[in-house]
Amino acid sequence: MMRTHRAGDLRPADVGGEVALCGWVAARRDHGGVVFLDLRDAAGIVQVVVDPSRPDLEVAHRVRDEYVLRIEGRVRRRPEGTVNPDLATGEVEVAVERLEVVAEAAPLPFPLDVADDVEEALRLRHRYLDLRRERLQRNLRLRATVNSAIRRAMEDQGFVEVETPMLIASTPEGARDFVVPSRLHPGRFYALPQSPQLFKQLLMVAGLDRYYQIARCLRDEDLRADRQFEFMQLDAEMSFAEPEDVMAAIDRVVIAAVEAVTGESPRPFGRITWHEAMERYGTDKPDVRFGMELVDLGEVFAHTGFRAFQAPAVKGIRCPGAGDASRSRLDQLTERAKELGAAGLVWMRVEDGGALASPVAKFLSEAEQLGVVDAMGARTGDLLLLVAGERAVANHVLGVLRLELGRPPVNEGGLHFLWVVDFPLFEGLGEDGRPVPAHHPFTMPHPDDLHRLDRHDGTGADLLEVRARAYDLVLNGWELGSGSVRIHEPEVQERVFSLLGISAEAARARFGFLLEAFRYGAPPHAGFAFGIDRLVALLAGEENIREVIAFPKTQSGVDPMTGAPGEVDPAALRELGVTVLSPPRP
Ligand code: ASP
Repeated sequence: MMRTHRAGDLRPADVGGEVALCGWVAARRDHGGVVFLDLRDAAGIVQVVVDPSRPDLEVAHRVRDEYVLRIEGRVRRRPEGTVNPDLATGEVEVAVERLEVVAEAAPLPFPLDVADDVEEALRLRHRYLDLRRERLQRNLRLRATVNSAIRRAMEDQGFVEVETPMLIASTPEGARDFVVPSRLHPGRFYALPQSPQLFKQLLMVAGLDRYYQIARCLRDEDLRADRQFEFMQLDAEMSFAEPEDVMAAIDRVVIAAVEAVTGESPRPFGRITWHEAMERYGTDKPDVRFGMELVDLGEVFAHTGFRAFQAPAVKGIRCPGAGDASRSRLDQLTERAKELGAAGLVWMRVEDGGALASPVAKFLSEAEQLGVVDAMGARTGDLLLLVAGERAVANHVLGVLRLELGRPPVNEGGLHFLWVVDFPLFEGLGEDGRPVPAHHPFTMPHPDDLHRLDRHDGTGADLLEVRARAYDLVLNGWELGSGSVRIHEPEVQERVFSLLGISAEAARARFGFLLEAFRYGAPPHAGFAFGIDRLVALLAGEENIREVIAFPKTQSGVDPMTGAPGEVDPAALRELGVTVLSPPRP
Protein backbone atom coordinates (compact mmCIF):
# COMPACT_ATOMS: atom_id res chain seq x y z
CA MET A 1 0.00 0.00 0.00
CA MET A 2 1.46 3.38 -0.98
CA ARG A 3 -0.25 5.22 1.84
CA THR A 4 -2.68 4.65 4.66
CA HIS A 5 -3.71 8.25 5.24
CA ARG A 6 -3.54 11.64 3.65
CA ALA A 7 -1.06 13.85 5.43
CA GLY A 8 -3.45 16.75 5.89
CA ASP A 9 -6.12 14.55 7.44
CA LEU A 10 -4.19 13.50 10.57
CA ARG A 11 -5.74 14.57 13.86
CA PRO A 12 -5.21 13.85 17.59
CA ALA A 13 -7.52 10.83 17.21
CA ASP A 14 -4.79 9.24 15.09
CA VAL A 15 -2.16 9.51 17.83
CA GLY A 16 -0.39 6.20 18.40
CA GLY A 17 -1.27 4.86 14.97
CA GLU A 18 1.20 3.59 12.37
CA VAL A 19 0.80 5.52 9.12
CA ALA A 20 2.26 5.58 5.64
CA LEU A 21 2.14 8.97 3.89
CA CYS A 22 3.14 10.26 0.46
CA GLY A 23 3.63 13.84 -0.50
CA TRP A 24 5.85 16.79 -1.31
CA VAL A 25 8.32 18.55 0.95
CA ALA A 26 6.76 21.95 1.53
CA ALA A 27 9.43 23.09 3.98
CA ARG A 28 12.29 21.64 5.94
CA ARG A 29 14.17 22.61 9.04
CA ASP A 30 17.37 20.68 9.28
CA HIS A 31 18.86 21.09 12.73
CA GLY A 32 21.75 18.73 12.03
CA GLY A 33 20.62 16.29 14.65
CA VAL A 34 16.92 16.27 13.98
CA VAL A 35 15.15 17.05 10.70
CA PHE A 36 11.65 18.50 10.54
CA LEU A 37 9.81 18.25 7.25
CA ASP A 38 6.44 19.70 6.29
CA LEU A 39 4.89 17.01 4.15
CA ARG A 40 2.16 18.29 1.83
CA ASP A 41 -0.45 16.36 -0.05
CA ALA A 42 -3.86 17.23 -1.47
CA ALA A 43 -5.39 17.26 2.01
CA GLY A 44 -2.90 19.64 3.58
CA ILE A 45 0.34 19.63 5.51
CA VAL A 46 1.65 17.61 8.43
CA GLN A 47 4.94 17.93 10.22
CA VAL A 48 7.11 14.82 10.11
CA VAL A 49 10.16 14.45 12.32
CA VAL A 50 13.27 12.40 11.67
CA ASP A 51 14.89 11.89 15.06
CA PRO A 52 18.68 11.63 15.34
CA SER A 53 18.49 7.93 16.17
CA ARG A 54 16.83 7.01 12.87
CA PRO A 55 18.97 5.28 10.26
CA ASP A 56 17.17 7.35 7.59
CA LEU A 57 18.56 10.60 8.99
CA GLU A 58 21.17 10.63 6.20
CA VAL A 59 18.41 10.45 3.58
CA ALA A 60 16.56 13.23 5.39
CA HIS A 61 19.63 15.48 5.20
CA ARG A 62 19.69 15.36 1.42
CA VAL A 63 15.99 15.97 0.96
CA ARG A 64 15.20 19.29 -0.74
CA ASP A 65 12.04 21.37 -1.25
CA GLU A 66 9.37 19.70 -3.36
CA TYR A 67 10.99 16.25 -3.29
CA VAL A 68 8.32 13.56 -3.33
CA LEU A 69 8.62 11.32 -0.27
CA ARG A 70 7.03 8.24 1.11
CA ILE A 71 7.28 7.90 4.84
CA GLU A 72 6.22 5.38 7.39
CA GLY A 73 5.96 6.35 11.01
CA ARG A 74 3.89 6.76 14.15
CA VAL A 75 1.57 9.69 14.88
CA ARG A 76 2.35 11.43 18.15
CA ARG A 77 1.17 14.50 19.97
CA ARG A 78 3.38 17.53 19.47
CA PRO A 79 5.33 18.43 22.61
CA GLU A 80 3.84 21.16 24.81
CA GLY A 81 4.45 24.63 23.36
CA THR A 82 5.00 23.45 19.78
CA VAL A 83 1.35 23.09 18.76
CA ASN A 84 0.68 25.05 15.56
CA PRO A 85 -2.84 26.51 15.66
CA ASP A 86 -2.58 27.66 12.02
CA LEU A 87 -2.41 24.10 10.78
CA ALA A 88 -5.37 21.69 10.81
CA THR A 89 -2.87 18.98 11.76
CA GLY A 90 -1.10 21.32 14.16
CA GLU A 91 -1.58 19.23 17.31
CA VAL A 92 0.21 16.19 15.93
CA GLU A 93 3.36 15.16 14.11
CA VAL A 94 4.64 11.94 12.64
CA ALA A 95 7.81 10.35 14.00
CA VAL A 96 9.47 8.86 10.95
CA GLU A 97 10.51 5.22 10.96
CA ARG A 98 11.21 4.87 7.25
CA LEU A 99 11.82 7.56 4.71
CA GLU A 100 12.06 7.01 1.00
CA VAL A 101 12.71 9.56 -1.73
CA VAL A 102 10.18 8.72 -4.45
CA ALA A 103 11.18 11.55 -6.79
CA GLU A 104 13.73 14.31 -6.59
CA ALA A 105 12.90 17.90 -7.54
CA ALA A 106 15.19 20.32 -9.32
CA PRO A 107 15.55 23.73 -7.66
CA LEU A 108 12.29 25.55 -8.32
CA PRO A 109 12.10 28.51 -10.74
CA PHE A 110 10.29 30.42 -7.99
CA PRO A 111 9.58 29.68 -4.35
CA LEU A 112 5.97 28.63 -3.94
CA ASP A 113 5.40 30.63 -0.79
CA VAL A 114 6.02 33.98 -2.49
CA ALA A 115 4.56 33.08 -5.88
CA ASP A 116 1.96 35.83 -5.70
CA ASP A 117 4.72 38.36 -6.25
CA VAL A 118 6.38 36.44 -9.05
CA GLU A 119 6.09 37.60 -12.63
CA GLU A 120 3.00 36.12 -14.18
CA ALA A 121 4.64 34.71 -17.29
CA LEU A 122 7.07 32.72 -15.14
CA ARG A 123 4.26 31.37 -13.00
CA LEU A 124 2.23 30.37 -16.04
CA ARG A 125 5.27 28.79 -17.69
CA HIS A 126 5.38 26.47 -14.68
CA ARG A 127 1.68 26.47 -13.97
CA TYR A 128 1.87 22.92 -12.56
CA LEU A 129 4.07 24.34 -9.78
CA ASP A 130 1.92 27.42 -9.35
CA LEU A 131 -1.07 25.12 -8.96
CA ARG A 132 0.60 23.33 -6.06
CA ARG A 133 -0.10 26.39 -3.95
CA GLU A 134 -2.91 26.23 -1.46
CA ARG A 135 -4.74 29.22 -2.88
CA LEU A 136 -4.99 27.77 -6.38
CA GLN A 137 -5.73 24.29 -5.10
CA ARG A 138 -8.58 25.77 -3.12
CA ASN A 139 -9.84 27.69 -6.15
CA LEU A 140 -9.86 24.65 -8.42
CA ARG A 141 -11.66 22.57 -5.82
CA LEU A 142 -14.16 25.37 -5.26
CA ARG A 143 -14.71 25.43 -8.98
CA ALA A 144 -15.42 21.71 -9.06
CA THR A 145 -17.92 22.17 -6.23
CA VAL A 146 -19.68 24.90 -8.21
CA ASN A 147 -19.80 22.77 -11.36
CA SER A 148 -21.29 19.81 -9.60
CA ALA A 149 -23.85 21.95 -7.74
CA ILE A 150 -24.85 23.50 -11.07
CA ARG A 151 -25.32 20.11 -12.69
CA ARG A 152 -27.40 18.85 -9.81
CA ALA A 153 -29.60 21.95 -9.69
CA MET A 154 -30.18 21.89 -13.45
CA GLU A 155 -31.03 18.21 -13.47
CA ASP A 156 -33.37 18.63 -10.50
CA GLN A 157 -35.25 21.15 -12.61
CA GLY A 158 -35.57 18.81 -15.55
CA PHE A 159 -32.87 20.29 -17.76
CA VAL A 160 -31.23 17.85 -20.15
CA GLU A 161 -27.48 18.11 -20.74
CA VAL A 162 -26.70 18.21 -24.44
CA GLU A 163 -23.29 18.77 -26.00
CA THR A 164 -23.11 21.00 -29.04
CA PRO A 165 -20.27 21.04 -31.59
CA MET A 166 -17.07 23.07 -31.40
CA LEU A 167 -16.45 23.26 -35.15
CA ILE A 168 -19.30 25.33 -36.43
CA ALA A 169 -20.29 28.23 -38.61
CA SER A 170 -20.12 31.63 -36.92
CA THR A 171 -22.46 32.47 -34.02
CA PRO A 172 -22.49 36.19 -33.51
CA GLU A 173 -22.14 37.35 -29.92
CA GLY A 174 -20.43 40.60 -30.72
CA ALA A 175 -16.83 39.35 -30.68
CA ARG A 176 -14.41 38.11 -33.33
CA ASP A 177 -14.42 34.42 -34.12
CA PHE A 178 -11.53 32.07 -33.71
CA VAL A 179 -11.37 30.20 -36.98
CA VAL A 180 -10.07 26.75 -37.85
CA PRO A 181 -8.98 25.87 -41.37
CA SER A 182 -10.35 22.75 -42.95
CA ARG A 183 -8.04 20.18 -44.55
CA LEU A 184 -10.83 18.45 -46.44
CA HIS A 185 -12.13 21.77 -47.71
CA PRO A 186 -9.04 23.88 -48.29
CA GLY A 187 -9.73 27.58 -48.14
CA ARG A 188 -12.75 27.07 -45.93
CA PHE A 189 -12.93 27.61 -42.20
CA TYR A 190 -14.87 26.55 -39.20
CA ALA A 191 -15.57 29.03 -36.45
CA LEU A 192 -15.23 28.04 -32.81
CA PRO A 193 -18.43 28.81 -30.93
CA GLN A 194 -18.74 32.19 -29.24
CA SER A 195 -21.64 30.42 -27.56
CA PRO A 196 -23.96 27.51 -28.35
CA GLN A 197 -26.73 30.07 -28.97
CA LEU A 198 -28.05 28.82 -32.31
CA PHE A 199 -27.78 25.16 -31.41
CA LYS A 200 -29.68 25.59 -28.20
CA GLN A 201 -32.45 27.37 -30.07
CA LEU A 202 -32.53 24.50 -32.56
CA LEU A 203 -32.77 22.08 -29.63
CA MET A 204 -35.96 23.88 -28.65
CA VAL A 205 -37.34 23.42 -32.17
CA ALA A 206 -36.29 19.78 -31.73
CA GLY A 207 -38.53 19.48 -28.69
CA LEU A 208 -35.85 19.06 -25.97
CA ASP A 209 -37.87 21.50 -23.86
CA ARG A 210 -35.14 22.28 -21.29
CA TYR A 211 -31.50 22.17 -22.31
CA TYR A 212 -28.34 22.94 -20.41
CA GLN A 213 -24.64 22.57 -20.93
CA ILE A 214 -21.53 23.68 -19.14
CA ALA A 215 -20.22 25.03 -22.38
CA ARG A 216 -16.85 26.24 -23.50
CA CYS A 217 -17.18 29.53 -25.39
CA LEU A 218 -14.45 31.20 -27.41
CA ARG A 219 -14.24 34.87 -28.26
CA ASP A 220 -11.32 36.68 -29.81
CA GLU A 221 -11.40 39.82 -27.65
CA ASP A 222 -8.80 41.73 -25.69
CA LEU A 223 -8.18 40.01 -22.40
CA ARG A 224 -9.00 41.64 -19.07
CA ALA A 225 -9.34 40.67 -15.46
CA ASP A 226 -12.75 39.18 -16.13
CA ARG A 227 -12.09 37.95 -19.64
CA GLN A 228 -10.18 35.09 -21.27
CA PHE A 229 -10.37 33.89 -24.89
CA GLU A 230 -12.05 30.72 -23.74
CA PHE A 231 -14.40 30.57 -20.83
CA MET A 232 -17.09 28.35 -19.41
CA GLN A 233 -20.74 29.24 -19.28
CA LEU A 234 -23.72 27.55 -17.81
CA ASP A 235 -25.79 27.70 -20.95
CA ALA A 236 -29.52 27.05 -20.75
CA GLU A 237 -32.66 27.29 -22.85
CA MET A 238 -36.32 26.66 -22.07
CA SER A 239 -39.37 26.26 -24.27
CA PHE A 240 -42.73 27.83 -23.50
CA ALA A 241 -41.04 30.02 -20.95
CA GLU A 242 -41.30 33.65 -19.93
CA PRO A 243 -38.39 35.67 -18.54
CA GLU A 244 -39.70 34.98 -15.04
CA ASP A 245 -39.36 31.24 -15.60
CA VAL A 246 -35.80 31.60 -16.80
CA MET A 247 -34.80 33.91 -13.97
CA ALA A 248 -36.36 31.59 -11.40
CA ALA A 249 -34.47 28.61 -12.84
CA ILE A 250 -31.19 30.53 -12.86
CA ASP A 251 -31.80 31.81 -9.32
CA ARG A 252 -32.04 28.22 -8.15
CA VAL A 253 -28.79 27.16 -9.79
CA VAL A 254 -26.85 30.15 -8.58
CA ILE A 255 -28.21 29.79 -5.05
CA ALA A 256 -27.30 26.09 -5.11
CA ALA A 257 -23.76 26.94 -6.21
CA VAL A 258 -23.35 29.58 -3.51
CA GLU A 259 -24.73 27.27 -0.84
CA ALA A 260 -22.45 24.45 -1.93
CA VAL A 261 -19.43 26.71 -1.49
CA THR A 262 -20.32 28.88 1.48
CA GLY A 263 -22.88 26.78 3.32
CA GLU A 264 -25.18 29.80 3.34
CA SER A 265 -27.88 31.18 1.09
CA PRO A 266 -27.09 34.46 -0.61
CA ARG A 267 -29.29 37.45 0.20
CA PRO A 268 -32.36 37.72 -2.06
CA PHE A 269 -31.54 38.77 -5.61
CA GLY A 270 -32.31 42.41 -6.33
CA ARG A 271 -34.02 43.63 -9.47
CA ILE A 272 -33.66 46.88 -11.37
CA THR A 273 -34.54 48.07 -14.85
CA TRP A 274 -31.74 48.91 -17.22
CA HIS A 275 -32.92 52.49 -17.34
CA GLU A 276 -32.86 52.85 -13.58
CA ALA A 277 -29.45 51.21 -13.40
CA MET A 278 -28.05 53.74 -15.85
CA GLU A 279 -29.62 56.65 -13.96
CA ARG A 280 -28.63 55.55 -10.47
CA TYR A 281 -25.29 53.87 -11.13
CA GLY A 282 -24.25 55.02 -14.59
CA THR A 283 -23.72 51.44 -15.73
CA ASP A 284 -25.72 48.39 -16.75
CA LYS A 285 -23.82 46.28 -14.21
CA PRO A 286 -24.15 48.15 -10.94
CA ASP A 287 -22.07 47.25 -7.95
CA VAL A 288 -24.67 47.73 -5.23
CA ARG A 289 -22.40 46.79 -2.35
CA PHE A 290 -22.00 50.50 -1.64
CA GLY A 291 -23.98 53.72 -2.03
CA MET A 292 -22.67 56.88 -3.71
CA GLU A 293 -25.56 56.71 -6.15
CA LEU A 294 -25.85 59.25 -8.94
CA VAL A 295 -28.20 62.10 -7.99
CA ASP A 296 -30.15 63.96 -10.64
CA LEU A 297 -29.79 67.70 -10.04
CA GLY A 298 -31.87 68.70 -13.05
CA GLU A 299 -34.57 70.27 -10.92
CA VAL A 300 -32.17 72.16 -8.71
CA PHE A 301 -30.59 73.81 -11.74
CA ALA A 302 -33.70 74.03 -13.93
CA HIS A 303 -33.48 77.83 -14.09
CA THR A 304 -29.82 78.32 -13.34
CA GLY A 305 -27.90 81.30 -14.59
CA PHE A 306 -24.68 79.28 -14.53
CA ARG A 307 -23.91 78.46 -18.17
CA ALA A 308 -22.11 75.18 -17.58
CA PHE A 309 -25.18 73.79 -15.82
CA GLN A 310 -27.58 74.76 -18.61
CA ALA A 311 -27.24 71.26 -19.99
CA PRO A 312 -29.53 68.31 -20.77
CA ALA A 313 -28.42 66.74 -17.48
CA VAL A 314 -26.64 67.80 -14.30
CA LYS A 315 -25.81 64.94 -12.00
CA GLY A 316 -23.62 64.36 -9.01
CA ILE A 317 -22.16 61.86 -6.60
CA ARG A 318 -21.41 62.35 -2.94
CA CYS A 319 -18.14 61.03 -1.56
CA PRO A 320 -18.69 60.80 2.19
CA GLY A 321 -15.93 62.37 4.25
CA ALA A 322 -13.71 63.03 1.23
CA GLY A 323 -13.95 66.83 1.53
CA ASP A 324 -10.30 67.03 2.58
CA ALA A 325 -9.09 65.86 -0.85
CA SER A 326 -6.05 67.89 -1.90
CA ARG A 327 -6.07 70.30 -4.81
CA SER A 328 -3.87 68.00 -6.87
CA ARG A 329 -6.20 65.09 -6.19
CA LEU A 330 -9.14 67.21 -7.36
CA ASP A 331 -7.20 68.17 -10.48
CA GLN A 332 -6.55 64.49 -11.08
CA LEU A 333 -10.25 63.70 -10.79
CA THR A 334 -11.07 66.51 -13.20
CA GLU A 335 -8.57 65.12 -15.72
CA ARG A 336 -10.06 61.69 -15.30
CA ALA A 337 -13.58 63.01 -15.90
CA LYS A 338 -12.41 64.67 -19.11
CA GLU A 339 -10.68 61.50 -20.21
CA LEU A 340 -14.01 59.74 -19.76
CA GLY A 341 -15.75 62.26 -21.99
CA ALA A 342 -17.00 65.00 -19.67
CA ALA A 343 -16.51 68.66 -20.55
CA GLY A 344 -15.37 69.18 -16.99
CA LEU A 345 -15.91 68.23 -13.39
CA VAL A 346 -17.31 70.51 -10.72
CA TRP A 347 -16.23 69.74 -7.18
CA MET A 348 -17.73 71.09 -4.00
CA ARG A 349 -16.53 70.69 -0.46
CA VAL A 350 -19.26 70.70 2.14
CA GLU A 351 -18.22 72.93 5.00
CA ASP A 352 -19.73 73.71 8.39
CA GLY A 353 -23.41 74.53 8.23
CA GLY A 354 -23.70 73.10 4.72
CA ALA A 355 -21.81 75.94 3.01
CA LEU A 356 -20.25 74.87 -0.27
CA ALA A 357 -16.62 75.61 -1.06
CA SER A 358 -16.21 75.33 -4.80
CA PRO A 359 -14.70 77.29 -7.68
CA VAL A 360 -18.24 77.66 -9.07
CA ALA A 361 -20.00 78.57 -5.80
CA LYS A 362 -20.05 82.26 -6.74
CA PHE A 363 -22.12 81.46 -9.85
CA LEU A 364 -24.80 79.61 -7.93
CA SER A 365 -27.73 81.16 -6.09
CA GLU A 366 -28.24 80.43 -2.43
CA ALA A 367 -31.31 78.37 -3.29
CA GLU A 368 -29.26 76.29 -5.73
CA GLN A 369 -26.56 75.68 -3.16
CA LEU A 370 -29.12 74.64 -0.59
CA GLY A 371 -30.84 72.54 -3.23
CA VAL A 372 -27.64 70.61 -4.00
CA VAL A 373 -26.92 69.91 -0.35
CA ASP A 374 -30.47 68.79 0.19
CA ALA A 375 -30.80 66.65 -2.96
CA MET A 376 -27.53 64.90 -2.29
CA GLY A 377 -28.01 64.46 1.44
CA ALA A 378 -24.62 66.14 1.84
CA ARG A 379 -22.98 66.44 5.25
CA THR A 380 -20.09 68.49 6.55
CA GLY A 381 -16.82 67.00 5.34
CA ASP A 382 -18.25 65.44 2.16
CA LEU A 383 -16.95 65.97 -1.34
CA LEU A 384 -19.52 66.43 -4.12
CA LEU A 385 -18.62 65.79 -7.75
CA LEU A 386 -20.90 67.13 -10.46
CA VAL A 387 -20.97 66.59 -14.19
CA ALA A 388 -23.18 68.46 -16.65
CA GLY A 389 -23.77 67.51 -20.25
CA GLU A 390 -25.54 64.86 -22.28
CA ARG A 391 -27.35 62.51 -19.93
CA ALA A 392 -25.55 59.39 -21.17
CA VAL A 393 -22.17 61.08 -20.79
CA ALA A 394 -22.89 62.40 -17.29
CA ASN A 395 -24.11 58.95 -16.24
CA HIS A 396 -21.10 57.21 -17.68
CA VAL A 397 -18.51 59.56 -16.22
CA LEU A 398 -20.02 59.58 -12.75
CA GLY A 399 -20.62 55.83 -12.90
CA VAL A 400 -16.91 55.25 -13.48
CA LEU A 401 -15.82 57.79 -10.86
CA ARG A 402 -18.19 56.21 -8.36
CA LEU A 403 -16.46 52.86 -8.86
CA GLU A 404 -12.97 54.30 -8.82
CA LEU A 405 -13.62 56.22 -5.62
CA GLY A 406 -15.90 53.94 -3.69
CA ARG A 407 -15.67 50.34 -4.78
CA PRO A 408 -14.80 47.92 -1.98
CA PRO A 409 -12.22 45.17 -2.54
CA VAL A 410 -13.55 42.07 -4.28
CA ASN A 411 -13.76 39.98 -1.12
CA GLU A 412 -15.66 42.52 0.98
CA GLY A 413 -19.32 43.32 1.41
CA GLY A 414 -20.81 39.92 0.64
CA LEU A 415 -22.54 38.76 -2.54
CA HIS A 416 -25.07 41.14 -4.09
CA PHE A 417 -26.85 39.50 -7.01
CA LEU A 418 -28.92 41.81 -9.13
CA TRP A 419 -31.14 41.16 -12.13
CA VAL A 420 -31.08 43.99 -14.64
CA VAL A 421 -34.23 43.80 -16.77
CA ASP A 422 -35.76 45.62 -19.74
CA PHE A 423 -32.53 46.10 -21.62
CA PRO A 424 -32.71 48.09 -24.82
CA LEU A 425 -32.61 46.02 -28.00
CA PHE A 426 -29.79 48.12 -29.42
CA GLU A 427 -26.91 49.61 -27.48
CA GLY A 428 -26.11 52.38 -29.91
CA LEU A 429 -25.51 53.21 -33.53
CA GLY A 430 -22.46 51.94 -35.37
CA GLU A 431 -20.30 54.02 -37.68
CA ASP A 432 -22.53 53.03 -40.57
CA GLY A 433 -25.53 54.48 -38.68
CA ARG A 434 -26.92 51.00 -38.13
CA PRO A 435 -28.09 49.94 -34.69
CA VAL A 436 -25.78 47.62 -32.81
CA PRO A 437 -27.50 44.81 -30.89
CA ALA A 438 -27.15 45.08 -27.13
CA HIS A 439 -27.21 41.29 -26.94
CA HIS A 440 -27.21 39.04 -29.95
CA PRO A 441 -29.51 39.48 -32.94
CA PHE A 442 -31.84 36.69 -31.81
CA THR A 443 -33.28 38.69 -28.93
CA MET A 444 -37.01 39.37 -28.93
CA PRO A 445 -38.03 43.03 -28.94
CA HIS A 446 -40.53 44.07 -26.30
CA PRO A 447 -44.00 43.44 -27.79
CA ASP A 448 -45.09 47.03 -27.06
CA ASP A 449 -42.11 48.33 -29.02
CA LEU A 450 -42.35 46.01 -32.00
CA HIS A 451 -44.04 48.63 -34.14
CA ARG A 452 -41.05 50.94 -33.71
CA LEU A 453 -38.89 48.56 -35.71
CA ASP A 454 -40.66 49.68 -38.87
CA ARG A 455 -41.57 53.24 -38.09
CA HIS A 456 -38.21 54.61 -37.17
CA ASP A 457 -37.29 58.16 -38.07
CA GLY A 458 -34.30 57.36 -40.22
CA THR A 459 -31.66 58.69 -37.84
CA GLY A 460 -31.95 55.47 -35.88
CA ALA A 461 -32.27 57.47 -32.69
CA ASP A 462 -35.73 56.20 -31.88
CA LEU A 463 -34.59 52.64 -32.44
CA LEU A 464 -32.48 53.07 -29.35
CA GLU A 465 -35.72 53.36 -27.39
CA VAL A 466 -36.83 49.87 -28.39
CA ARG A 467 -36.78 47.64 -25.35
CA ALA A 468 -35.80 44.00 -25.49
CA ARG A 469 -37.09 41.04 -23.55
CA ALA A 470 -33.58 40.67 -22.23
CA TYR A 471 -32.11 40.47 -18.76
CA ASP A 472 -28.65 40.31 -17.23
CA LEU A 473 -27.50 38.89 -13.95
CA VAL A 474 -24.95 41.06 -12.17
CA LEU A 475 -22.85 40.16 -9.14
CA ASN A 476 -20.94 42.87 -7.28
CA GLY A 477 -20.53 44.91 -10.44
CA TRP A 478 -19.52 42.03 -12.69
CA GLU A 479 -21.79 40.98 -15.51
CA LEU A 480 -22.32 37.35 -14.68
CA GLY A 481 -24.49 36.52 -17.62
CA SER A 482 -27.32 37.45 -19.88
CA GLY A 483 -30.31 36.00 -21.53
CA SER A 484 -33.47 36.82 -23.36
CA VAL A 485 -36.68 35.66 -24.90
CA ARG A 486 -35.78 34.71 -28.46
CA ILE A 487 -37.37 35.62 -31.68
CA HIS A 488 -39.12 32.48 -32.88
CA GLU A 489 -40.99 33.95 -35.82
CA PRO A 490 -38.97 34.05 -39.03
CA GLU A 491 -40.61 37.34 -40.10
CA VAL A 492 -39.57 39.18 -36.95
CA GLN A 493 -36.09 37.71 -37.20
CA GLU A 494 -35.81 38.89 -40.79
CA ARG A 495 -36.92 42.40 -39.81
CA VAL A 496 -34.26 42.56 -37.10
CA PHE A 497 -31.58 41.27 -39.47
CA SER A 498 -32.55 43.89 -41.99
CA LEU A 499 -32.30 46.68 -39.39
CA LEU A 500 -28.83 45.41 -38.51
CA GLY A 501 -27.87 45.68 -42.14
CA ILE A 502 -27.85 41.94 -42.72
CA SER A 503 -29.45 41.58 -46.13
CA ALA A 504 -31.96 38.84 -46.87
CA GLU A 505 -29.31 36.97 -48.88
CA ALA A 506 -26.69 37.37 -46.18
CA ALA A 507 -29.19 36.25 -43.54
CA ARG A 508 -30.05 33.21 -45.61
CA ALA A 509 -26.41 32.40 -46.18
CA ARG A 510 -25.43 32.74 -42.52
CA PHE A 511 -28.54 31.78 -40.59
CA GLY A 512 -30.76 30.18 -43.23
CA PHE A 513 -30.80 26.95 -41.23
CA LEU A 514 -32.29 28.77 -38.22
CA LEU A 515 -34.88 30.66 -40.23
CA GLU A 516 -35.79 27.45 -41.98
CA ALA A 517 -36.09 25.55 -38.70
CA PHE A 518 -38.46 28.22 -37.41
CA ARG A 519 -40.81 27.40 -40.28
CA TYR A 520 -41.41 23.89 -38.95
CA GLY A 521 -43.17 24.70 -35.71
CA ALA A 522 -40.92 26.68 -33.39
CA PRO A 523 -41.94 26.90 -29.74
CA PRO A 524 -41.57 30.25 -28.04
CA HIS A 525 -38.37 29.95 -26.05
CA ALA A 526 -36.05 31.87 -23.80
CA GLY A 527 -32.72 31.23 -22.16
CA PHE A 528 -29.69 32.40 -20.38
CA ALA A 529 -25.99 31.84 -19.94
CA PHE A 530 -23.69 32.86 -17.11
CA GLY A 531 -19.95 32.80 -16.80
CA ILE A 532 -18.74 30.14 -14.43
CA ASP A 533 -15.23 31.59 -14.26
CA ARG A 534 -16.63 34.88 -13.01
CA LEU A 535 -18.95 33.31 -10.47
CA VAL A 536 -16.13 31.14 -9.14
CA ALA A 537 -13.71 34.07 -9.00
CA LEU A 538 -16.12 36.14 -6.94
CA LEU A 539 -16.90 33.20 -4.66
CA ALA A 540 -13.17 32.66 -4.20
CA GLY A 541 -12.58 36.38 -3.56
CA GLU A 542 -10.30 36.67 -6.59
CA GLU A 543 -9.91 39.83 -8.69
CA ASN A 544 -8.90 37.97 -11.82
CA ILE A 545 -10.52 34.93 -13.40
CA ARG A 546 -7.04 33.60 -14.23
CA GLU A 547 -6.78 32.56 -10.59
CA VAL A 548 -9.67 30.13 -10.97
CA ILE A 549 -8.68 28.66 -14.33
CA ALA A 550 -6.21 25.78 -14.34
CA PHE A 551 -4.34 26.80 -17.47
CA PRO A 552 -5.18 30.37 -18.45
CA LYS A 553 -3.53 32.64 -21.00
CA THR A 554 -1.56 35.73 -20.12
CA GLN A 555 -2.99 39.19 -20.66
CA SER A 556 -1.52 39.11 -24.17
CA GLY A 557 -3.21 35.83 -24.99
CA VAL A 558 -0.18 33.59 -24.79
CA ASP A 559 0.40 30.32 -22.99
CA PRO A 560 4.03 30.56 -21.88
CA MET A 561 4.03 26.87 -20.94
CA THR A 562 3.02 25.24 -24.22
CA GLY A 563 4.10 28.14 -26.39
CA ALA A 564 0.66 28.59 -27.92
CA PRO A 565 -0.05 30.22 -30.27
CA GLY A 566 2.72 28.59 -32.28
CA GLU A 567 3.72 28.32 -35.88
CA VAL A 568 2.48 25.58 -38.15
CA ASP A 569 4.61 23.42 -40.41
CA PRO A 570 4.50 24.89 -43.96
CA ALA A 571 3.50 21.51 -45.34
CA ALA A 572 0.50 21.44 -43.02
CA LEU A 573 -0.41 24.96 -44.10
CA ARG A 574 -0.25 23.93 -47.76
CA GLU A 575 -2.55 21.05 -47.04
CA LEU A 576 -4.97 23.44 -45.39
CA GLY A 577 -4.82 25.87 -48.29
CA VAL A 578 -3.53 28.59 -45.98
CA THR A 579 -0.87 31.17 -46.80
CA VAL A 580 0.62 33.29 -44.06
CA LEU A 581 0.87 36.81 -45.43
CA SER A 582 3.40 38.58 -43.26
CA PRO A 583 6.32 36.57 -41.99
CA PRO A 584 5.87 35.76 -38.33
CA ARG A 585 7.82 38.04 -36.03
CA PRO A 586 11.05 36.53 -34.76
N1 ASP B 1 -25.71 33.25 -25.81
C1 ASP B 1 -25.75 34.33 -24.86
C2 ASP B 1 -24.34 34.66 -24.40
O1 ASP B 1 -23.45 33.85 -24.54
C3 ASP B 1 -26.56 34.03 -23.67
C4 ASP B 1 -27.99 33.80 -24.00
O2 ASP B 1 -28.62 34.68 -24.58
O3 ASP B 1 -28.48 32.72 -23.66
O4 ASP B 1 -24.11 35.71 -23.84
